Amino acid sequence: MRVEILGSGGAVTTPRPGCECRICAEAREKGIPYSRSGPSVFVHGPDVLIDTPEEIKDQLNRAHIGHIAAVFYSHWHPDHTMGRRLFETRNMDFRGWPRRSQCTDVYLPPKVAEDFQTRLGLKEHFEFMARHDTVQLHVWPDGEWLHFGGWDVRHIALAADYVYAFLFQRDETRVLIAMDELIGWEPPGWLRGVDLAVIPAGIFEFNPLTCERQFPADHPVLKVEATFLQTLDMVEALAPRRVVLNHIEEPDGVTYDDLCELEQRLRAERGWDVRFAYDGMVIDVGT
Ligand SMILES: [Zn+2]
Ligand SMILES: [Zn+2]
Repeated sequence: MRVEILGSGGAVTTPRPGCECRICAEAREKGIPYSRSGPSVFVHGPDVLIDTPEEIKDQLNRAHIGHIAAVFYSHWHPDHTMGRRLFETRNMDFRGWPRRSQCTDVYLPPKVAEDFQTRLGLKEHFEFMARHDTVQLHVWPDGEWLHFGGWDVRHIALAADYVYAFLFQRDETRVLIAMDELIGWEPPGWLRGVDLAVIPAGIFEFNPLTCERQFPADHPVLKVEATFLQTLDMVEALAPRRVVLNHIEEPDGVTYDDLCELEQRLRAERGWDVRFAYDGMVIDVGT
């Protein structure tokens, strides 16, 4: 299996249009790995795409990804769903008649399927695309394993009741991918020691190198998003063999170079095999 980080950013991607801060200016000048597009991961082997941010078409082209066996959605938030026109552009036979469009299977965990009914016009747009046979939605029941490319996959409900992580398993190898919204999550004991965990880094309430406060202590975002320090506790509890921290946003106030330094500190202080994600990062996993 090869896990590819198509987009390592979050709701606020880097560079942010119109922003001249040092992080955006550097990202504009140097591009990847300093720039970060919206959150998306591709799992080669099972050939599963997780989430479709606005930049998904460019991300798939950049990564030369052809076959997509299935698409999973972790939750309804716009930074994870707004690239949904992918299915029209990629699959529709515009010129042929009668049309011979391709159809992509999209799997929605139960609460995601429910939210798709009421949020952001998702229901209407997916019904529109389904009428053109470019996409087929499936509700993915709790506890059900799906099978792609020799891998078994299930979803795992997180503490926030609208978001899910995904577990890929084959023989003794287990890979956990959580796209966002870890607030309040206590990793269950049975997940301890997964071979690879890709999880969001959390909000950098404090600059991780200087320890300066970056978000006011009473900022409402700190009540709805896990912080970086809370995420470190989750990593301790999960004890993955390798961990990749993802979903890094422009307001987090850290550059690629800052994160390389932080990576070294965490490796030395905690003894973890930890990396911060960047666009295009690939992680090869055992079997
Ligand atoms: Zn997000
Ligand atoms: Zn900026």
